[in-house]
Amino acid sequence: MTLSGIPLATSDLQVGDGGRKNSTMICAPLMADSVDQMLIQMRKAKELGADLVEVRIDSLKNFSSQRDLEILVKQCPLPTLVTYRPTWEGGQYDGDETSRQTALRLAMELGADYIDVELKVADEFYNSIKGKKPEKVKIIVSSHNYQNTPSIEEIGNLVARIQATGADIVKIATTALDITDSARIFQVLVHSQVPTIGIVMGERGLISRILCAKFGGFLTFGSLDEGVVSAPGQPTIKDLLELYNFRQIGADTKVHGVIGKPIGHSKSPHLYNAAFKSVKFNGIYLPLLVDSVANFLNTYSSPDFVGYSYTIPHKADGLKCCDEIDPIAKEIGAISCMIRRPNDGKLMGYNVDYLGAIGAIEEALGGSQGSVSPLSGKLFVVIGAGGAGKALAYGGMEKGARVVVANRTYEKAKELANKVGGEAITLAELEDFHPEEGMILANTTSVGMKPKTDLTPLSKKALSYYSLVFDAIYTPKWTRLLQEAQESGAKVVFGTEMFINQAFVQFERFTGLPAPKALIRETLAKNT
Ligand code: NAP
Repeated sequence: MTLSGIPLATSDLQVGDGGRKNSTMICAPLMADSVDQMLIQMRKAKELGADLVEVRIDSLKNFSSQRDLEILVKQCPLPTLVTYRPTWEGGQYDGDETSRQTALRLAMELGADYIDVELKVADEFYNSIKGKKPEKVKIIVSSHNYQNTPSIEEIGNLVARIQATGADIVKIATTALDITDSARIFQVLVHSQVPTIGIVMGERGLISRILCAKFGGFLTFGSLDEGVVSAPGQPTIKDLLELYNFRQIGADTKVHGVIGKPIGHSKSPHLYNAAFKSVKFNGIYLPLLVDSVANFLNTYSSPDFVGYSYTIPHKADGLKCCDEIDPIAKEIGAISCMIRRPNDGKLMGYNVDYLGAIGAIEEALGGSQGSVSPLSGKLFVVIGAGGAGKALAYGGMEKGARVVVANRTYEKAKELANKVGGEAITLAELEDFHPEEGMILANTTSVGMKPKTDLTPLSKKALSYYSLVFDAIYTPKWTRLLQEAQESGAKVVFGTEMFINQAFVQFERFTGLPAPKALIRETLAKNT
């Protein structure tokens, strides 16, 4: 199932929506032990910018239906969705069904705006409210699948069954085993005749929670605080509004992202979304937890999925999926950036990693003298032979340095060294490698990256032979390697510099506009 060529939902917005580009609401699920706590949460949800709250009655201890519901529904500063989720549908309520449905009916009579009823009991519930449902109350008939996301045919049947109950709003929540699972839910959102909530749970389903605004979803859920979620993979309201600019996502918004695994640590969404917003570019940039690059690209082949950054471990796989590759990326055997060419949809691959890193190292060495790089003639040791390693080694070669590659897998070091006319050594040999003073070191492995910040790829003792040390890692900014290099008297160059310089280049390729450099620097500083 692909998203190519499907019509996008048009927004149906009221005048006075403050520049919103979609009508998808943000709903804050409230999970509290007590009514008092829930009232505090309601006020917080409003302050944070939610459009409505989901009152999860099943989270309350000692729930007394009449009194508690009256307080919650009447005192809520936002529209209310009342949910009383039983354990058989993934909730916390394990009491008898009659009392549960009685409480839901009461919530309806008390003026709740939406009532969530599970598909399994929807007919029974509808029979019990025949002729009694207040006009303003909307019934959401929901189905939750905590195992997987079924095929498009099965989801289609499920939607039909939900619609047949008379549901005002359809809700389908499934579980992502792969990022491509969300595409089937997007299909449903686009084609559904009835307002529909379509959410794919789990980290691999994150895009469903954000792009539902593009595809016409009725609402998305946003948590009040990080880590306090009612379902796996839920973003915070703050992230939806500030990081992903949720209100500005429209049917015509162009989708970008960083493809990697893992990807949760990436700062790229902060940078690009802030930069897109600052120049009013109609684009979104997402963290994309991808298992198979080919599957991802084949599934999200619509012209609106336009630009990607590539990171570990997908840079070489990304290259294999390009229609055209720039010569440096081809030499390196890895891409860091992919653009869908607007006129023919062809996927173009680039490697811009080396531009950023080499530029930053040259600057720290005092800059070029005319056309001569300060790297020229220097002994340049690159640890790692992956995507970043190749970029640095090729960059060093281009600038006239004598390149030495050290890598855990020696064969890869040998292969890369041969290509750049350098020398290969093992990591063990690197410890005692000091043919001369004033060497330059570039770490391009992930050793020392968050969360394993106590690790370092080279001992402090060995660092004393280097005059400058660069670390490609940018989370954290001060890696153990850089701290120890500074203590040993070497100049240090942060991975953030490589990141920032290549971000400028990628921004320009994504948007065709000049990069807002100061803003990108500021955003990165705030988020590291
Ligand atoms: P990659 O292609 O997967 O390469 C990883 C490299 O690290 C390989 O050489 C691998 O050795 C080595 N390695 C991994 N774990 C190791 C360990 N435990 N001990 C020793 N060596 C190990 O990844 P990449 O894309 O080049 O990225 C590498 C690092 O650079 C990451 O930390 C990434 O965040 C960073 N990076 C930063 C920027 C930036 O803008 N600052 C840009 C790109 C990448 P084997 O060959 O033996 O597997």
